[in-house]
Order: sequence, then C-alpha cells, then structure tokens
Amino acid sequence: KKTQRIDKILGYLGYGSRSDIKKMTKQGRIALNGVTVKDSGAQANPLADLIEVDGERVFYREYVYLMLHKPPGVISATEDLREKTVLDLIPPEFRVFSPFPVGRLDKDTEGLLLLTNDGQLAHDLLSPRKHVPKTYLADCQGTIGEREAGLFAQGVELDDGYVTLPAEMEVLERGAYENGEAKTVISLTISEGKFHQVKRMLEAVGSKVTYLKRVSMGPLRLDDALPLGAFRELTAEELEALH
Ligand code: URA
Repeated sequence: KKTQRIDKILGYLGYGSRSDIKKMTKQGRIALNGVTVKDSGAQANPLADLIEVDGERVFYREYVYLMLHKPPGVISATEDLREKTVLDLIPPEFRVFSPFPVGRLDKDTEGLLLLTNDGQLAHDLLSPRKHVPKTYLADCQGTIGEREAGLFAQGVELDDGYVTLPAEMEVLERGAYENGEAKTVISLTISEGKFHQVKRMLEAVGSKVTYLKRVSMGPLRLDDALPLGAFRELTAEELEALH
C-alpha cells in the first residue's frame, strides 16, 4: 500500500502549499486516524487512512476511472526507466490514486485506454472468460474484403498455432498509400486480447497493419472530443455501463 506525505496529499486536494499545511499542523488542525498530526511530513495512505482538517473528513475518493486517448510512442505501463509511459500523461492530482492501464496497447497503437485503481473492474474487463469486445480501426496493406471477413468470423490461426475466437470485420474505406499500393481501412472487433492480436490476425490473412487505433472496449467508446494524449474522467453513465 502506498503512503505519501500528508502535506502532499492535502496540497493535491487544494488545502494549500507545503508551508500552509505546516502552519495548519502547528495549529493542531490536521488529524490522522483520530490523532492530531505534529509533522506535516507524516506519511499517510490516502486510500486507507482517515485524514481530517478542522474535524472534517477530507474527501478522498477511493477510485478513479480515466479515459485516455493514448498517443503513439508511449508504453502501456505505469513506470519504465527509459520509455515514456501512459502514466506520464496523467497529472499528479490523479496519479496519487495510483491508476494503472486496464490491458495494453502496443507502443505504436493509439486510442482508448482505461486507467483505474479499481482492481476488481480491471479484472472483470480483462478476464478471458468475459469476452469483452474491443473494436479497432486498422489501416491494412492490400485489398481486404469478404474473404478476410469470413476467415475472421471463423477464427484464424496465428503464428503460434492459436486459433482466434470469431471476430467481426468491416471494410470502412478503400484507398492507397503514398507509394500507390492498395490500402484498406477496416474495423475489427475481437473478444479476447492475445499479444499483438490484431496485427497477427492481419498477418494470418496475408496483410499487414500499418496504423492501429482502439475505439471501444465493452460499453466504452473513445470520446471524439479527446485529442491524442488527453484524458478525462469517465462520466457517471459510462461508469454505470461498465459495472
Ligand atoms: N492488437 C494489436 O496488435 N496491438 C494492440 O495494441 C492491440 C491489439
């Protein structure tokens, strides 16, 4: 369990600067688990401890639920020594809740990523038994159509011999790359989450994904108003739909 300095916690919550909190501590206005705090640097666990200011419970939510429009180039991890992670896109007032990404998107994949500290919800969404559908948009090399849609509907064999569950594919657009080669934009809905699954499914039918974006996960849809790299909290309706 994570603890943090109490002046930091109260700072995030808008109770003032470090020196403000120090002053309040001197005045005996802050209590931790019923005991007056003497040192504003005392450690507290914002999720587990009772923190009071002037006898009033500091409102600290247990859970946060964030929708991130993941940009390419960042990894779906909470920390990494070398690479920028999705947590680097989340400001401290949300990071104090220790959210983590629910599932993973490849470094070069964009789109919907849910971050939360609600382990139960994450577990439910990721459980292989629940078959939560995830929809991706993909630019694919070559001409993809009925034949591939049929193969995906039946299940295709990946490079490691795994046969995928039925998936739904639709052609959204036909076009060409700058070099003139054919390009097909598809949407693909899968109900599982094997490593690099969409890319490997397209390889299994002789194509290659050149751009990949997740647009939905279960009842959650990526908010069109969220620019790449931006996030927002889930709405009450979205949360309800998830539970
Ligand atoms: N499938 C992939 O190949 N990559 C992702 O990031 C997500 C699904």
